[in-house]
Amino acid sequence: MGHGGKDPGALIEGYKEKDINLNVALKLRDILTKNGIDVIMTRDKDETVDLQQRCDIANKAHANYFISIHCNS
Ligand SMILES: [Zn+2]
Repeated sequence: MGHGGKDPGALIEGYKEKDINLNVALKLRDILTKNGIDVIMTRDKDETVDLQQRCDIANKAHANYFISIHCNS
């Protein structure tokens, strides 16, 4: 999911995009996993993962799909 750690993403009224993205991603992970889909998270907590690291994680796992979750402010 987008952002995390030192990168909060969009900010509005005390909400940080990174926190919303993480919550959505954790729910999506649970739904996909319950339906038999293998899920690899680039982050599952509030931490900084740069774009190259995310690509490396996906490529190393030979991922079929890459889902990047964001939301607008
Ligand atoms: Zn974003």
